[in-house]
Amino acid sequence: MYTEIETDATTKGNSTSALIEMRDIEKIFKTGAGDFTALNHVNVCFYQGEFVSVVGKSGSGKSTLVNMLTGIDHPTSGIVKVGEKYIHQLSEGEMSIWRGENLGIIFQFFQLLPMLTILENVMLPMDFAKLIPFQEREERAMHLLDMVGLADNAHDLPAEVSGGQQQSAAIARSLANDPPIIIADEPTGNLDSRSADEVFKIFTTLAAQGKTIIMVTHDSNLAKRTDRMLLLSDGELVNTWIANAFPYLPDNRLLWLTQQMSVHSFDPHQSIPLPSNQQAALYLFTTGPVEFVTSNGFFGKHKVRLNPGDYLSHADVQNFSEEVLGLRGLNGEEVKALVLDKNSFQRWMDEDRHDKSLLTKAAMDRLSAWRNIGESSTGK
Ligand code: ADP
Ligand code: MG
Repeated sequence: MYTEIETDATTKGNSTSALIEMRDIEKIFKTGAGDFTALNHVNVCFYQGEFVSVVGKSGSGKSTLVNMLTGIDHPTSGIVKVGEKYIHQLSEGEMSIWRGENLGIIFQFFQLLPMLTILENVMLPMDFAKLIPFQEREERAMHLLDMVGLADNAHDLPAEVSGGQQQSAAIARSLANDPPIIIADEPTGNLDSRSADEVFKIFTTLAAQGKTIIMVTHDSNLAKRTDRMLLLSDGELVNTWIANAFPYLPDNRLLWLTQQMSVHSFDPHQSIPLPSNQQAALYLFTTGPVEFVTSNGFFGKHKVRLNPGDYLSHADVQNFSEEVLGLRGLNGEEVKALVLDKNSFQRWMDEDRHDKSLLTKAAMDRLSAWRNIGESSTGK
């Protein structure tokens, strides 16, 4: 499925302008108990200057996904293209040279060499890659340490500084050869929240300077603050629109919705029917705003609008008391939405009482918000 590309919430461009393109990635591990699919036909692009988080339950495939980029592991099938290079085709030797020039890699456990000073740790990748002239290396390392707030600790050994400082040093080290891409697997997993926040701020600064940051994290609060969040469930990517619209639903349901919902464009000149048990039972708008068509032009006391990323389901509509005739794009513009058909919706509501109560509860909260908040209220 290529829906992630077509409908991704914050895609900055199309795949031709992507810095990193992962196409149809499958990763199958051979285990004693048989084949295990860790990544199931994943399609995703990353763009220059983006700070993207990768989230999902333990075992959902986050590390496996980023390992396809670092070359720590290889896809069973599929394409990994970075810039103009197809890196899944590189030999081990070519990969290690490419990695040294293009990637900064940061792990949960900082992996600094304990007998080298912080400064020497940061200089080490420069000595390996030989991209930075010998006489510039120390000054550059000091500059990087200064940037992450560690100038005063340059001559300390890793064990002499805190965990947060060690991770900052690891970030400085990852920048040694000025790579365009930083990949961090649970970089804050071993840090207290204040240190985690420091590390996060460094990443934000780097992204603003044009680096592409891909960060695996368990911390959903940090993930929400990145430019884009990718959610993995059982080795598959959840559509970003869906993950953002239904934060209260479990990951496997979000994946199910990703598989069931399809892209639909509505004729700009026709009213969009409300979600119902006749046809479509759930819309998730990817363009907008969309407004309600009511007999007196208002919803409650206000004109309510749904913006891109907002959804409307049959569960919402069941609570409407006034006469809502339908929906339409503002200014007669074309409306696009991800749509769930009534049969799938009905099956879901019949089979999963818990999800049904979550959706119903959300519907009641949204309705009262729509009645109370003014002009620009959205369903959230
Ligand atoms: P995450 O980083 O999201 O916690 P991983 O990407 O490490 O998850 O692992 C995804 C799944 O693949 C897990 O079920 C894990 O047990 C399995 N897995 C990872 N590496 C291997 C391996 N080398 N051999 C067999 N199974 C593996
Ligand atoms: Mg992991």
